[in-house]
Amino acid sequence: MNPIRIELPNERQVAPVNVYLFTKPEPVLVDTGTNAASDQAALQAGLAAHGLTVGDLKRVIISHAHVDHFGQAATIAAHSSADIWVSDLAYEWLVDTPAMWRKRIAYYRDVFLPQTGLSVEMREMVLNFMAYSAETAVSVPRQRIKTYAPDAKLEMGGLTWQTLYTPGHASHQTCYYQPETRQLLSSDMLMTTTPTPVVERPPTGTKHIPGLPRFLESLDLIESLDIEIVYPGHGEPFSSYREIINKQRSRIYQRKAECLDCVKDGCDTAVSLVQKMYGRRSATIQFAGLWMVIGYLDLLLADNAIVTEEVNGVRHYRAKK
Ligand SMILES: [Zn+2]
Repeated sequence: MNPIRIELPNERQVAPVNVYLFTKPEPVLVDTGTNAASDQAALQAGLAAHGLTVGDLKRVIISHAHVDHFGQAATIAAHSSADIWVSDLAYEWLVDTPAMWRKRIAYYRDVFLPQTGLSVEMREMVLNFMAYSAETAVSVPRQRIKTYAPDAKLEMGGLTWQTLYTPGHASHQTCYYQPETRQLLSSDMLMTTTPTPVVERPPTGTKHIPGLPRFLESLDLIESLDIEIVYPGHGEPFSSYREIINKQRSRIYQRKAECLDCVKDGCDTAVSLVQKMYGRRSATIQFAGLWMVIGYLDLLLADNAIVTEEVNGVRHYRAKK
């Protein structure tokens, strides 16, 4: 059977989020939405439309540990006998969500945000928003979590789906491909809009793992597949994936070139680049813009087109001669 899309409001973020339901041979849900009451109610309504309740779910599969994709997992676990499946790479986020948030907040507060050149006032705003997510985060009991390898095979809807490891938006992002029916559950890897390369606390040291270069590699992987229909984490399903991939790739290259021009013009911190490239947009877009700018800078560093040095905790960039 094909995945059934249920759209949840995801009201604290920019766009609604999709979860996908397989009703047969057993009820399986891919991703959960946030733990907000509005997402809980929308999920219940979506399940009820197929004669199901949360208590009927047998498995929940999590594509990546972002709050709009796994936020409701603990609530579902509390109201059903479902096992919560997540890749090995995202396990820590499920089993101790508040601790993972605390560590990410500390990294943003002490290292990442100061490096960008963001004002203390703006840093506070970002940290407050993150603190809200941390306070509302609920872990899934250890005994209810099952892990899969990033290249595992998972049974859903009576078919075997291949898990694909597609880092970029998140370092632990996975999506699921069904080769016979040529369907892809692409989560936040492939959508009609480019996902942000979210900056994460590195496992060691202070330098984040570059997200946008890995995202481009993941796009290559998806492009190499034969796909009939893509079911994304946000927005309507689509078939024109090669066109969308090409558009995103050329847009990223174009913005990377613009970013280099701005650096040549004297924008030498991430924040000055955001002001130049996203200055007229809303605060939310500007914050997403900060992650994008870091992504373009990571690409330019990988190209050896720019150099960087840290002065008093702030990262400065300049073009290579
Ligand atoms: Zn995400």
